[in-house]
Amino acid sequence: MAGNNSPVICVVIARTRHKMMQAEIEQAAKQGAKMIELRLDFLAKPPDYKRLLANKHCPLIATVRRPADGGRFAGTEEERLMLLRQAVVAGFDWVDLETDIIDRVPRFGKVKRIVSYHNLREVPTNLDEIYKHMCEQDADVVKLSVTAQHPTDNLRVFSYFKDAPKPTIAHCMGDMGICSRVLAGKFGSPFTYGALNKERTVAPGILSFAELKKIYHFEETNPATEVYGVIGDPVGHSLSPLLHNMAFRHHGINAVYIPFRVPRGDLATFLKKFEQLPVRGYSVTLPHKEEAAHLAAWKDEAVELTGAANTLIRSPAGWRAYNTDAQASIDSLEANMLPIADGTQIPISSLTVLILGAGGVARAIAYMLQKRGANLLIANRTGERAQKLAQEVGCRIVDWQARHSVLCDVVINCTSVGMHPNVDESPVHSSFLTLGLTVFDTVYTPETTLLIREAHERGCNFLTGVDMFVRQAALQFKLFTGLDAPLDASFELVRKVLSPVNLGQDDTRI
Ligand code: NAP
Repeated sequence: MAGNNSPVICVVIARTRHKMMQAEIEQAAKQGAKMIELRLDFLAKPPDYKRLLANKHCPLIATVRRPADGGRFAGTEEERLMLLRQAVVAGFDWVDLETDIIDRVPRFGKVKRIVSYHNLREVPTNLDEIYKHMCEQDADVVKLSVTAQHPTDNLRVFSYFKDAPKPTIAHCMGDMGICSRVLAGKFGSPFTYGALNKERTVAPGILSFAELKKIYHFEETNPATEVYGVIGDPVGHSLSPLLHNMAFRHHGINAVYIPFRVPRGDLATFLKKFEQLPVRGYSVTLPHKEEAAHLAAWKDEAVELTGAANTLIRSPAGWRAYNTDAQASIDSLEANMLPIADGTQIPISSLTVLILGAGGVARAIAYMLQKRGANLLIANRTGERAQKLAQEVGCRIVDWQARHSVLCDVVINCTSVGMHPNVDESPVHSSFLTLGLTVFDTVYTPETTLLIREAHERGCNFLTGVDMFVRQAALQFKLFTGLDAPLDASFELVRKVLSPVNLGQDDTRI
């Protein structure tokens, strides 16, 4: 291990060919790996230990996982045990031995032993018993790798760190278990596992080495690290962890921001149970914005008006709910409206704005614009929803089919039209996009939607969903910390991640 008390990321390398495994050992070394696990069960041929150990630059763990534990080893159990015994004498620094076989592989020299338990289905009810037994086995580190069925399963595995009789690694697999992998270092785990290549699917929910190192700064976490996060379902591709963790780092704050996948209907239980960490603040995304508003002890004006919260801040009196989407949309508009001849900006109260859509984002923007006195019109594919929102806000509706006949200064797309993968769609015909019109597309995946491309081609003033996204996150960061997020660096980061080259490639997006 690292030789001090900092938690280490153990890089998992799993390739079918020796040549590729060797190449990845080199790659991991270049990226600063301090410990590497070689998943020998992935190799198509029997392991050539000499080749694999030839350029060892950091401690190596030998693991030969069987299919029942999520591995690929196709031979018999006797053959597997033989490979493990050979790895021990060949020069590996560590060996991973499952709890049921550890007694069949004798200790050898200074080779350290991990006793492991895997459960690909659940966190079993008798895990305490299993853990107690493992602590009594001849191992240097005890490892529990179980599967979260519910977010609160993570709390069960955290409980093993407290007063652990032996160095313990405990995490939940699956996308609900990501927080247990990221927070392992805070709770005293000697290491966590990160895949060099996430697409190799070495373990469900495993993060990449690059994500753990560059987004979550795992090796710098400690018991004092404060926890923030984003709650949603799905939440795996949220860009919020990138922005908030970067902003914490920018200000030298010892905090980490994590995605929490919480299924619909589970928010109240989740918030209550995770009080014990505690989590200081959350971003809230679909499908929990309304429930978050409902559960809050205090609501800001935007939450009162819209009935939806995208931010929760912990306070002694309960959760304080905010909606930064609403303010961010106005800030974006004001920052991007073109000045008129005398250099001043047209006040929002003098603008005629057409909102396309009547969902959550449309609601947040509509309330804010109405409050600022804009002349507001709403058009939505489903007329009744437009009618309902217009009645609540106190503005007019336009039939969806008649939207092209509206004369307005600003059109805001609050529908999901144009969003990935439907990138060839636009909510309006290009002929609607005339000189002098400001076009605001709240969609940000991709940033350059067809609507934005056509607005640009036809000489319109335009602003994108990235502007609003970065600003809503910056407003959240201010609520979390009282500090300003680095806006320019945030724009740069989000644009880099969303660039067509990087989309969907987790390791290059950082
Ligand atoms: P939502 O509540 O599900 O509302 C979706 C809206 O899109 C509804 O008005 C829906 O109309 C309309 N729509 C969907 N498909 C359509 C189609 N084929 N033709 C016409 N209208 C269609 O979603 P939301 O939370 O408001 O989010 C809307 C968009 O805002 C998202 O897609 C996302 O890209 C963007 N967004 C941006 C930010 C940011 O920070 N920039 C933040 C959140 C969301 P019906 O009522 O007829 O179904």
